[in-house]
This record gives sequence, C-alpha cells and structure tokens, in this order.
Amino acid sequence: MILAVRDLSKTYKSTSTKALDKVSINIGNSEILGLLGPNGAGKSTLINIIAGLLSADEGELYWEGDILKNHNLLKRKLGLVPQDIALYPKLTAFENLDFLGTQYQIPMPLRHQRISEALKALDLYKERNQLINHFSGGMKRRINLIAGLLHQPELLIMDEPTVGIDVHSKQAIQEFLLKLNGEGMSMLYTSHMMEEAEKICHQVAIIDHGVILQSDSPKNLIINTSGAKNLEDVFVKLTGKGLRN
Ligand code: ADP
Repeated sequence: MILAVRDLSKTYKSTSTKALDKVSINIGNSEILGLLGPNGAGKSTLINIIAGLLSADEGELYWEGDILKNHNLLKRKLGLVPQDIALYPKLTAFENLDFLGTQYQIPMPLRHQRISEALKALDLYKERNQLINHFSGGMKRRINLIAGLLHQPELLIMDEPTVGIDVHSKQAIQEFLLKLNGEGMSMLYTSHMMEEAEKICHQVAIIDHGVILQSDSPKNLIINTSGAKNLEDVFVKLTGKGLRN
C-alpha cells in the first residue's frame, strides 16, 4: 500500500458544506485508482487534501504504512496535475517544462533528457519550441501532465487529465499513463469517463455526497451489480439518475 486514507472528513466553513464524510480509500503500490463521482461529489476536495493543498477536519493519511504527521515530507513523492492548465502562455512548451524542472532542482542534463523523452512519448517533440498559447487544448493538457511528473513522483494525482480533449490526445495520455504505471508509478485520478476508467484503472472508488459508495476493481463492481454491463451502469445505479450541476 502506498497511500491509505482513513476516515477523512471536511466541512467548508464558509458554506457549512460537508464535502467529505469519513472517507477511506487505499492505493496499492503501482496501482491506478480511479475516483469517480458526479459534480460536487467531493473528488477535488479529497485529492486536494491528499496533495497537501487543503487540510482535513478529521482523519489520517498513511504513507507506506506510516501515519503522515508532516505533509511536507511527501512533497517530492507526489505529483499533482490540476484540472486548470497551469502554464505560462508566453513561454514555449520546452521553456515551461524547463522552468518547472528547475523549480524541482532537477539538474542538467537530466532535466532536458526527461523533458525530451516525455515530449516524444506524448508526440509533442516537434512542437517543443512553439509558444503555449498557440497550442490546442489537447496539446496543453499533455504539457500540463508532463509538468506534474518531471520530478518522477511515486504517486501521481490527476484531476480529470483527459477532460475536453480530442480522441488522439486522450489516447496518447492514456498510453503514456499506462507506460509510467508499468514502470511502477502509482496513480490516483478523478474522471467522469467511465469507459476510460474501466480501461485503465485497477481499482475504482465511487464517491457521492462526500461518501465512498463502493470501491473495487471495475470487473468486480460490474459482476456484483445486478444488471450492470459496464462501469457506467454501476455508476448510475449507485449515484442515481438525477442531474447534477
Ligand atoms: P467534485 O470535485 O466532485 O465536483 P468538490 O470537492 O469540488 O466536488 O465539492 C464538494 C462539495 O463541496 C460541493 O458541494 C461543493 O459545492 C463544495 N465546495 C467545494 N469547494 C468549496 C469551497 N472552497 N467553499 C465552499 N464549498 C465548497
């Protein structure tokens, strides 16, 4: 187990919204855990707490079996790919990544080597010297992903890494994630895309109203839900058909 979350609760004081209610999840070593839930379910709150951007009211995190007392110790072990693109529009793709690499104090020439390899793997090497604001949404999302993992984190946390992009970018990202996972990187990611989760996740946790409803492999979730042919059927059955805003 690389990370265990135990009984995490969080209420936003400003609105008295209980965003998480005694949430527990486990991420195994070299495992991809998909966190699935409708809008407002608590996904971002949970990953922000795990990433150390937000504090919980109650509950604990365990890193490789030890209770985590100081989140700073995880800084270099975690990578975060936020949903919002966090890149400088007036720098080139390479310059953006190079800048981030220096923030993580990755020395040369290792820094340039990692950037070049990732750009090649995500089919962006030819465009490396173009300004980011000339990139398409899918290209920016691929660069955003590289930005979160240049320091080779042990656990990569991603907030909807394939949202709103074309099929080619989506496939390139999925293949890249599977390659890194095959090399041992553990991953936690949120998604609305059931088909994708079914394809790449070892485990899926379905969350709604701040509560984990079920957590298992996609295959087991489907087998154990009567009438379900796929993960989408499981999801709808657990979360209901009502629309969320
Ligand atoms: P998701 O990522 O699944 O869409 P969130 O974690 O963003 O869900 O939100 C969970 C709940 O907490 C929602 O009801 C949302 O309105 C509320 N919430 C999220 N962020 C804040 C905040 N900064 N202040 C107050 N309420 C918030």
